Amino acid sequence: MDKSKRTAIIAGNWKMNKTPKEAKALLTELIPMVKDADCEVVACVPFVDLTVALEVTEGTNIKIGAENCHWEESGAYTGEISAKMLAEMGVPYVVLGHSERRQYFGETDETVNKRTKAALAAGLKPIVCVGELLWERECNITEEVIARQIKLDLFDISAEDVKKTVIAYEPVWAIGTGKTATADQAQEVCSFIRATLAKLYGEETAEAVTIQYGGSMNDGNCEELLSKVDVDGGLIGGASLVAAKFQPIVAAASK
Ligand code: PEP
Repeated sequence: MDKSKRTAIIAGNWKMNKTPKEAKALLTELIPMVKDADCEVVACVPFVDLTVALEVTEGTNIKIGAENCHWEESGAYTGEISAKMLAEMGVPYVVLGHSERRQYFGETDETVNKRTKAALAAGLKPIVCVGELLWERECNITEEVIARQIKLDLFDISAEDVKKTVIAYEPVWAIGTGKTATADQAQEVCSFIRATLAKLYGEETAEAVTIQYGGSMNDGNCEELLSKVDVDGGLIGGASLVAAKFQPIVAAASK
């Protein structure tokens, strides 16, 4: 399948930024700037911003995502939000397994797998993040690390559901550091992810999956990164918090 047949997705990951009022202001500014985008535009926002974000973007081409979800539908999990709750609100996307959740909140491949299954069962589109630490890259085990994450995070998920899943390749050393992977490094790993998916789920499934790059993507480097054949979009942290910085990335993906 050629790249143009896959859905290009530019998704902002706002992390723990923007109050509901600030979210409304940012999305209101962004809506006219991306209205003609020829790619999927997603804003993944803090839980408390979801209601206002869905209201403000109703009838526009901006889709909303959450930044995590729990694997149970309900129960004694204080502070957690279930996929069913998000689905009932009308939230279409959810980021799972972000390296900050793995690093600070004890997220493991096992829990990412459980969350991914729950998200898919609730009809959400998961954006599953994978990526190596700097130390792992220096030890030359990037491919081992990525293959393990892909196998475990997607364990026991059908090929049909894998097609609905977005994979974000986010080298941990490039997130929020200003250090971007070169376009060739991003392509190399995104292509390896596709090859791993092909081995596990078949060529047709692998060719259908949207694979994003994330890690200090900005208006200066997005064009080169997004020109690569296996880079189908971006997961954007810092640059998604300012409309004027996010819009050029959407424009680059629309070319
Ligand atoms: C992210 O949070 O997923 C991310 C890629 O952040 P940044 O763009 O700030 O590196």
